[in-house]
Amino acid sequence: MGLVIDIPAIQANWKALAAHAPGARAGAVVKADGYGLGAARVAPALYQAGARDFFVALAGEGRAIRPLLGGDARIFILSGHMEGEDLTGLTPVLNSAEQFFRDRALRPRGAFAIQLDSGMNRLGMEPAEWAAIRDEALAAGPQLIMSHLACADEPEHPANAAQLAAFRAMTDGVAVPRSLAATGGILLGPEYHFDLVRPGVGLYGGLPFAGARPVVTLSLPVIQTREVMPGESVGYGHVWTATRASRIATVAAGYADGLARALAQDGKLRLWAGEQTCPVVGRISMDLITVDVTDLPEVPPALEILNARQGVDALAACSGTIGYEILTSLGRRYARTCL
Ligand SMILES: *Cc1c(COP(=O)(O)O)cnc(C)c1O
Repeated sequence: MGLVIDIPAIQANWKALAAHAPGARAGAVVKADGYGLGAARVAPALYQAGARDFFVALAGEGRAIRPLLGGDARIFILSGHMEGEDLTGLTPVLNSAEQFFRDRALRPRGAFAIQLDSGMNRLGMEPAEWAAIRDEALAAGPQLIMSHLACADEPEHPANAAQLAAFRAMTDGVAVPRSLAATGGILLGPEYHFDLVRPGVGLYGGLPFAGARPVVTLSLPVIQTREVMPGESVGYGHVWTATRASRIATVAAGYADGLARALAQDGKLRLWAGEQTCPVVGRISMDLITVDVTDLPEVPPALEILNARQGVDALAACSGTIGYEILTSLGRRYARTCL
């Protein structure tokens, strides 16, 4: 019952993605608390599997996992050197000339990496900005030069080749390890791999890594079942009305647990009882979801909303979002078990 996280599956997904990029080191992105699954469990497991290069968004996330990893692990901070941050033991990815000069002033011998903007226009130095500080930056000994792809989950998108060309134009001939690919970029092929790849969502069972092993099972305890007569309605707004004598199960999770109200918007959301599916009926409320279990011979103690058949991307499709958002929204109230 609750949220079951398959740690060996995460390790297997890391190894599988690393095997897709045999010429590169495989890092691991564990930002947003390991995509919602618990960085304190996930990062050491990935270290054990062989990862030595970890990426998080914020320095605080890096400080939280630093004591859990061996001294040979590098923890890259994607937001770079923000004012007032303690970056002891961490490697900021400097995103602008401003960050570069701040970092060099405060940590003249501190480890750092550089992010270049190859066309996503989100983080990283623009080509002209890079050209202006390039000699000084290279003299300071960056550990990595990286950029990020905007459209890697769409292999045919012309932005992929354009970003690859822009990244090469800014970095070819530079004697520093380079990194461009996240999960999607790994699957685009070897010209995107460079020296280090940065898989995130694929480790946790999400698209675009279609070959991922499923990682999460989420089963919601049934609190109560009731019989509902034809014409009776269920839940807030009475938006669902029984057209037959129905049995309704009420399970213990809702939008406060990251199961967005919009998941029930088109009436396609299903929960699983073994091999059988049961439609969610009525609105998702803060702590509760109501499910039509009329067709089950027997109501089990819990119903699954995430499992090998209905993964994070299938669930995401119900509300028009992506698996990443389902993972990083997973609530704090679930009983969590790691396999
Ligand atoms: C989040 C992120 C990643 C990981 O991306 P996935 O699509 O989850 O594999 C890699 N690099 C950067 C810069 C990121 O922000």
